[in-house]
Amino acid sequence: MRAALVDIFGTESVSDDGADYAGDWTENAPAMPAFVVRVSREEQIPQLLALANERRIPITPRVAGTNSGGLAIPSEGGIVLELGALDSVAIDPVHMIAWIGPGVTWERLKAETAAHGLRLGYPLAPPDTSVLACALMDGLSTMSLSHGSLGDWVLGVEAYLADGTKVKTGSAAASGLPWPLSRGPLPDLTGLFVNWLGTTGITTRLALTLWPLRSHRRRDMIPCVRNEDAFELMRTGARTGLFDDIAGIGWPGAKWALGLDELGPRDPAEPSQYVIADYGADTEAEIELKHKRLVELAPVAPVPVADLVALAPELEPFSDLPTRLDFLLDHEGGGLTWVGTYGPLDKLEEGAALGEAILAEAGFPPLTVTRPMKGGHYAVLRMIERFDRRSEEETARVRKVNIKVGRALMELGYVPYKCPAVLYDELFARLDPGFLKLLNTVKRAVDPNNILSPARWRFDR
Ligand SMILES: Cc1cc2nc3c(=O)[nH]c(=O)nc-3n(C[C@H](O)[C@H](O)[C@H](O)COP(=O)(O)OP(=O)(O)OC[C@H]3O[C@@H](n4cnc5c(N)ncnc54)[C@H](O)[C@@H]3O)c2cc1C
Repeated sequence: MRAALVDIFGTESVSDDGADYAGDWTENAPAMPAFVVRVSREEQIPQLLALANERRIPITPRVAGTNSGGLAIPSEGGIVLELGALDSVAIDPVHMIAWIGPGVTWERLKAETAAHGLRLGYPLAPPDTSVLACALMDGLSTMSLSHGSLGDWVLGVEAYLADGTKVKTGSAAASGLPWPLSRGPLPDLTGLFVNWLGTTGITTRLALTLWPLRSHRRRDMIPCVRNEDAFELMRTGARTGLFDDIAGIGWPGAKWALGLDELGPRDPAEPSQYVIADYGADTEAEIELKHKRLVELAPVAPVPVADLVALAPELEPFSDLPTRLDFLLDHEGGGLTWVGTYGPLDKLEEGAALGEAILAEAGFPPLTVTRPMKGGHYAVLRMIERFDRRSEEETARVRKVNIKVGRALMELGYVPYKCPAVLYDELFARLDPGFLKLLNTVKRAVDPNNILSPARWRFDR
């Protein structure tokens, strides 16, 4: 096998030391790949697919492996396909589109788009991770209140199916233009690649929607002592259509950011949620109007994040994204995991209370991340745990917690996004039988030998 891989990728780009790829910083079970290969030219992908089909070897695409759900963990004995070197970017300034390869990072895309007077929203993810992978996973960002999850921003892709067929989706399938300008008006097969976690194809380019850069920006923080006040602000703020983002981060996040590692229970007088409102405008008058409206809606006076950072420089990561949240990544024990869900905006109080109680009962500070999505049509509710992954006991405990949180939130109508491997059974057990049948039919049609990320999602149930 090694010789065949070297023929395609060259000696330097084939490794049989998969130790760094077998697991991630979550509690999801590791699996050791037989080989890791680094793509340097797109043409190598169909050659690898032919080999993998012939020998029935699973392939798992990967860029930085930071999805925090075990989703880039390969199949035991399979091949990890590293795509970071495919990092081309073309910006279409007229139609406000970025046409990007898998290796394009948030940091780089921010710089490239700003050079054209354009912008996009950013996740809390590290700056050196893949935009394309996040969009394919339907992630979320600081423009998800105004414009929905990242899957909604994808206008089309260029991808290789398992049999090596190269496909273009979106309007570019017919227009003859180099990249799609819209997802229609043809059948929307872009959806065949979004939320499938690499099980239907290897995406080599993706067209992402951008927006104009505004000359005036504000990022204000509203500390809310009660979750209810924070969620009410999110609901009312969403309906104004004025803000790019109104997101809440639970109290343990702020304390960890300030370097306080050992957290007891929250003092009832302390804020439970730190809500951050992010908004822009083209003129001073417009931004002032938006600010005034926020002041009217907020339960307490909003404080510019820049002022907070001047007082407490440790809060700098909250001032501008993308950023590296060291307090989540560089703590003793190194484990980080979460259950993130999309679901009802009107059940945030109930969902957060349930999630917080489950985490607190198991001895984890109850860190929530919440935001209204797409103008307030739904919400994100995410429960995050830092843990000591050197401890088997704590890893097993966090696994149980995530299953319990996932179950409780699904009962309320929330659906896990980037569904972590530990929740597959819970999710699949709830799928509409017809939908599951359709999933299986599609998967078998596009990947009959099941070589594409077979460890992700479990078809044929
Ligand atoms: C502290 C922290 C905060 C985060 N905050 C956010 C957040 O706010 N919002 C958010 O959305 N995410 C967040 N993330 C998750 C993650 O970092 C981002 O989604 C990131 O952009 C993923 O990029 P990656 O390179 O790590 O992807 P990887 O983990 O390498 O890949 C992700 C998935 O995509 C598949 N894949 C990769 N490339 C391809 C391809 N070319 N074709 C098909 N499938 C492919 C992989 O197999 C895997 O299933 C956060 C992570 C951390 C650690």
